[in-house]
Amino acid sequence: MKENRTAELSQLCRTCGACCNGGMFAFVDVEPGELTPATRRRLSVIEERGVFSQPCPAWTATGCEVYADRPRRCHEYTCDLYRVAESGQEEHARLLHRARRIHELIAALQARRGARDGEWLPRAVSEMLSGLRPDRVEPELLLDVAELAMRLQRDLGWRPEITKQPTEAPGSGPEQTSSSERSRAARDPASD
Ligand code: SF4
Ligand code: SF4
Repeated sequence: MKENRTAELSQLCRTCGACCNGGMFAFVDVEPGELTPATRRRLSVIEERGVFSQPCPAWTATGCEVYADRPRRCHEYTCDLYRVAESGQEEHARLLHRARRIHELIAALQARRGARDGEWLPRAVSEMLSGLRPDRVEPELLLDVAELAMRLQRDLGWRPEITKQPTEAPGSGPEQTSSSERSRAARDPASD
C-alpha cells in the first residue's frame, strides 16, 4: 500500500471513530484467551458474555491506545467507508467529509444523552425520545438520530447488530489476513 494511502486511511479512522466510540456498536466480542489481556488493557470486559463494552476506553483523539495489542475482532474489522478509501475509488476529501459528519453526529448525541457503556447510541436516543411527550421532542434531535442511522448504514455498511462483527468482504476466504493488515495499518496512530 502506498505510504500516502496508509496515512489517509489512518486520518479517516481518527476522524470517524464510529466502530470504537459507541456510535456503531454496543459491544465487541473477545475470545476466551483474550479476556485477561483485555481486562489488563482496561477495556470494559464482561467476562460471562465474552465481550467488552463501548464506548471503548482505549479510543482517543489519536486513535486506539492499545493498537498493537487490540482484540482479534478489532483487528479484523473494516467498514464500507474504509474499503472505498482503500480502493482509491473516491476522493479522500469527500470520504473525510463523511467521516467528519458521522463523528459530529455521534458527539452531539452523546453530549445530550451521555456516553453509556454497552448501549447503541441511535437506539438509546430513540428510546429516550419515545419516553417524552411529543411536544417536548426537539425536531433537530430527531433529525440527528435519523441522519446518523442513515449514514451508519449508507456510508459504513452498518447492520442492526450490537456487536462488532468481522468484515466479510465479497469473495474473501475464512481468513481475513489482507483486510486485517489493512486495518492494522490504518488505525495505527503512529502510521502517519
Ligand atoms: S473502520 Fe470505518 S467505522 Fe471504524 S473508525 Fe475507520 S472509518 Fe470509522
Ligand atoms: S480498535 Fe482499539 S479503540 Fe477500537 S474498540 Fe478495539 S481496542 Fe477499542
